[in-house]
Amino acid sequence: MTHHLPPSPVPCTACGATTVNSVVAIRSVPIHCNLLWPTHEEALKAPSGDITLGFCTTCGHVFNTTFDPAVMEYTQAYENSLHFSPRFQQYADALARRLVERYAIRQKDVIDVGCGKGDFLAMLCEHGDNRGFGFDPSYVPEHMAPDRAARMTIVQDFYSPQYASTKADLITCRHVLEHIQYPRTFVRNVRTAVGDRLSTVVFFEVPNVLYTLKDLGIWDLIYEHCSYFSVPSLREVFRACGFTVTELHELYEGQFLGIDTVAASAPQGGLDAATPGDVKRIADYVDRFAAEYDAKVSQWRQKLVRWKEKNVKVAVWGGGSKGVTFLNVLKPGPTVGCMIDINPRKQGMFVAGTGQQIVAPEHLQSYRPDVVVIMNPVYKEEIYGILGELGLAPSLELA
Ligand SMILES: [Zn+2]
Repeated sequence: MTHHLPPSPVPCTACGATTVNSVVAIRSVPIHCNLLWPTHEEALKAPSGDITLGFCTTCGHVFNTTFDPAVMEYTQAYENSLHFSPRFQQYADALARRLVERYAIRQKDVIDVGCGKGDFLAMLCEHGDNRGFGFDPSYVPEHMAPDRAARMTIVQDFYSPQYASTKADLITCRHVLEHIQYPRTFVRNVRTAVGDRLSTVVFFEVPNVLYTLKDLGIWDLIYEHCSYFSVPSLREVFRACGFTVTELHELYEGQFLGIDTVAASAPQGGLDAATPGDVKRIADYVDRFAAEYDAKVSQWRQKLVRWKEKNVKVAVWGGGSKGVTFLNVLKPGPTVGCMIDINPRKQGMFVAGTGQQIVAPEHLQSYRPDVVVIMNPVYKEEIYGILGELGLAPSLELA
């Protein structure tokens, strides 16, 4: 079905097959969408790179064929915590409860790989009275509440085979694998660390590329995400690395994929029987995405030109990667006067590439936007409520 997409010379980073087609190319986006800049001038000079999406017709993986890991750097300034949204927190809490109850993880040892600020690990510890071990180079110790620190140990480092001696009954890893150029290397390291403890449950969560494709979520494409997983590509990575997949579900209204696995005694060869059919279904969405990407961008460009001509004041709500990509693809200039985010750690900082300041919702009482562009429809009710409390009624547009 992908006959009109040109072949890419780059082999699939998930399965190694040379059956990759080029989907879309996006020039000059910030390398660190989530890296915050203290001044407008520094934000404008943020380093940039190109995204050239490839689609593997063997395993259904989507990835950036022009990704250069050498330019990536995760530091304490890296800010990707979604935990300030009550809705996301509820979701994460329910997920932690499910894992604790389903696998009877009580008074046991839990590892969270890429634990960020340690919020999810704390939930796993609290629900099952467990001991937590987190690994994250961007971890900031002073952000943790003292009551949490008692049951959690967090190492400011990448998780690697040198930590294989840290035993665990449950290993979780959420929103890390999409940042890894060769996911099999990473998952194989986790398999090595599990060793012969075959009862250890390993759970990974990643963004679901099918949601992005179906939704024409063109603002979800960011340089930091070199890997975009589908059900078949995620399943094949874990099978190839010696895990048995026990559950693989869409989560968070289809935006994420969650995979529950246990270690197998040996890696499984060949493709899962369901994979060719799953890949074929995704291929149709990839075709449509490629065709409609340019149309959606040009519609937005026209809309922003009209707003500029009429002096319409616009604010973008959502200082995460979607908002940053939206601004960098469209480069709307001063028509978009600010970006709103409820995360106080982001407020006062500036958007990489385009330089808008990130401000608290209260700032809208002085900015008084005519239009608020919402990056994630999931938060529409929450945003509507906050605007109402501020006595504001701008028109709301979904990006
Ligand atoms: Zn592949």
